[in-house]
Amino acid sequence: MPMNVKPVPALDNEINEIRLATAEIVNKEILPNEGRLWGAVSNSANEQNEIAREAKALRREVQEKVKHAKLWAPHLPREFGGMGLSFLQHAYMNEVLSYSPGAASLFGVVAPNSGNQKILVQYGTPEQHEKWLKPLTDGTMQSGFSMTEPHTPGSDPRSLSTRAVLEGDEWVINGHKWFTSNGYSADFFIVMCRTSDPSASGGDNDRMTQIIVPRDTPGVKIVRGVPVWGRASSHCEIIYDNVRVPKSNQLGRTGSGHRAAQDRLGAGRVYHCMNSIGSMWRAFDLMIERLMTREVHGGEKLETKQFMQGFVAESYMDIQSARLMTIHCAEKMESGADPRTDISSIKVFVPAAYHRVVDRAIQVYGAAGVSGDLPLAGMYQGARTLRIADGPDEVHKIMMAKLILRRYHAGESWDFGN
Ligand SMILES: Cc1cc2nc3c(=O)[nH]c(=O)nc-3n(C[C@H](O)[C@H](O)[C@H](O)COP(=O)(O)OP(=O)(O)OC[C@H]3O[C@@H](n4cnc5c(N)ncnc54)[C@H](O)[C@@H]3O)c2cc1C
Repeated sequence: MPMNVKPVPALDNEINEIRLATAEIVNKEILPNEGRLWGAVSNSANEQNEIAREAKALRREVQEKVKHAKLWAPHLPREFGGMGLSFLQHAYMNEVLSYSPGAASLFGVVAPNSGNQKILVQYGTPEQHEKWLKPLTDGTMQSGFSMTEPHTPGSDPRSLSTRAVLEGDEWVINGHKWFTSNGYSADFFIVMCRTSDPSASGGDNDRMTQIIVPRDTPGVKIVRGVPVWGRASSHCEIIYDNVRVPKSNQLGRTGSGHRAAQDRLGAGRVYHCMNSIGSMWRAFDLMIERLMTREVHGGEKLETKQFMQGFVAESYMDIQSARLMTIHCAEKMESGADPRTDISSIKVFVPAAYHRVVDRAIQVYGAAGVSGDLPLAGMYQGARTLRIADGPDEVHKIMMAKLILRRYHAGESWDFGN
């Protein structure tokens, strides 16, 4: 079933046209090829290579069409090869391009490269743009973001223990990270380090700094890809053992690492939520398609069963509420209002709604729902993972309660209209 995207009356022509053009690529180039684009697993080793080769060529073909349609890299400014979209335009495009799992990469948005690109745009020097951002954008380099550690809680980034010490003109880094996504392919990592720079002024000592570490630097040891959901992965465990890089590899001023991580995650959470909404949209369409075609006891279609009708109504409400909450949050961010409560609320609510919507679709499909023939099983694992990554649910709920109560303690109440 193709994605049904029509112009949204409240949006301007430009973004409506972008959404329609994106849907056209999704419907014509991606959905019909979904089974071949990602190099499906095969029993024969030779055949597998052939399938992988064909998949790569097909992905290139689609990427060329995306570039031709001027839909490449929605997250980047024009001067860095992107579409130069505003924050809201990008958010609205995301729900369309994520209708097919993995499609974002065909539009030039590949995590964690995309987050790293944005940090490099915002914090990088012209030299760093030339050396790291440009090759990342034209696809000749890959990257990873190395923040989480096995022995300190990632939910409290201020507790991390990887340390960088300035010796002359070099940072010397020692630490142990894991879940550095894309670790095997990365040419460089952006590593979050606790830094102590005696020459830094204004209380910057002993704060966090993000430092670019090329993967081939002596002392960078990739221990393993940590298996995830029972499968091998490229989310790597890495030891940084007396790794020396030039001071000029630091991003922004010494001590700005925590701020940079917040910048990365804040907008990123809205984009992730719009991605989840695109995936929910797909799961919903798939569920209804099945309800309308599957006959059960006595030749009746599943759609006639009230249990199933309940699924339709509940999933509709989950998707609409998740979508409107996310758009409300995005509008608040765009207007310059304090969006922190809303960012945390979508970070908790949307993955949970996504989880419920996919769960119902899987139930409707029976065994096929958990098979590799449909995108639902992958979506289910993705939705569950989202409740941990980018800050676990509990931390966001605590943050929301603090922000809300603070306002009441200040003698105000909450204005739900704004
Ligand atoms: C697939 C995947 C990819 C990832 N990619 C990256 C990456 O590229 N780079 C990177 O740096 N990291 C990455 N991560 C790591 C992710 O950001 C962390 O897992 C996350 O921040 C949580 O940290 P933690 O695992 O150390 O959990 P912990 O901080 O140990 O928390 C564990 C649990 O404790 C509970 N909890 C924590 N704090 C509180 C509290 N205050 N009150 C009540 N309960 C609490 C929560 O339920 C939480 O889930 C990835 C993770 C996954 C699963």
